[in-house]
Amino acid sequence: MVLGGTLGLAGWWFSGQVMGMAQAKDKGVKGGKVMVRLLTEAGKPGAAREVAEVVRPDKEWAVRLSVEQFRVGRTAGTERAFCGVFHDNHKKGIYFCAGCGLPLFQSGDKFDSGTGWPSFFQPFADENIGEESDSALGMSRTEVHCVRCKMHLGHVFPDGPKPTGLRYCINSAVLNFEDAGEVPSTETIFLGAGCFWGVEEAFSKFAGVKNVEVGYAGGSTKNPTYEDICRHGTGHAEVVKVEYDPQKVSTEKLLQRFFTMHDSTTLNRQGPDVGDQYRSAIFFTRPEQEAVAWDVIDKLSAAKKFSSPIVTQVELAGPYTRGEEYHQKYFEKHGGGGCHVPTE
Ligand SMILES: [Zn+2]
Repeated sequence: MVLGGTLGLAGWWFSGQVMGMAQAKDKGVKGGKVMVRLLTEAGKPGAAREVAEVVRPDKEWAVRLSVEQFRVGRTAGTERAFCGVFHDNHKKGIYFCAGCGLPLFQSGDKFDSGTGWPSFFQPFADENIGEESDSALGMSRTEVHCVRCKMHLGHVFPDGPKPTGLRYCINSAVLNFEDAGEVPSTETIFLGAGCFWGVEEAFSKFAGVKNVEVGYAGGSTKNPTYEDICRHGTGHAEVVKVEYDPQKVSTEKLLQRFFTMHDSTTLNRQGPDVGDQYRSAIFFTRPEQEAVAWDVIDKLSAAKKFSSPIVTQVELAGPYTRGEEYHQKYFEKHGGGGCHVPTE
């Protein structure tokens, strides 16, 4: 089960403290790329790999984040002590970035600092955390943020326990938590592979898939209509929401099928369908799904399965809008002639 980091937040300590985050000098940041370690399905940090930085205008962050997440994560705010949902969380699991899904901390490195904020003696991976000196409030502190999307997380202090002697003092609001003690019976992933009618039909017949529906994701507005999507002004992709039983079908197998049903090498295009609504996209809901997605892409690329590079967007799922009823199960209702999705 994945818990959001802002449930039950009742207040804040002080807001809007401004720090010099804009010019973050993170190690490993080069030309819009960062080196990070993703979460493997075994629950461990994977090999360091290069991914694109996540950069959005504030108005898009405001659509994706709650008011509290935006205040803390994008304006360097601080939640009130003892008010966040995770300062007293003792469950086993992974804390990941509410902005981009990057794994940031794990329960085994958490300790009770008595400060009222979640405290860790080390990050999930050194690569995943950026640091910046912070002299706001007349104090000399070290600010920490997600290296990929620059969400402000909190500060690190040199008064932590062994073995590192560090105390990462983190706001709950900017974290999501994946409970390792709970095996999910259903996982969800949103897949864009061109016109969603045929993609929905194909996944509805795939062994291990429990439910499918079509909708819109990856855009900059909430609750778009099909007409909004077709005007290409909101950045939404046509997607299929796939709910599957991880005991019956692996994420890897699902994504292998995904790459056989569309052209992942053409930007914003599937055959005659042109526009960003038809882009190839994987919107993951659990950080392990991201690692699997990149593994599948790496293997296809290494095997030279396609003549051009894969351009599939891989991103943490944001707001999703279910498509209009007349788009649901369209081919079941009307027949599927002429669809771009090949049968298997
Ligand atoms: Zn992030």
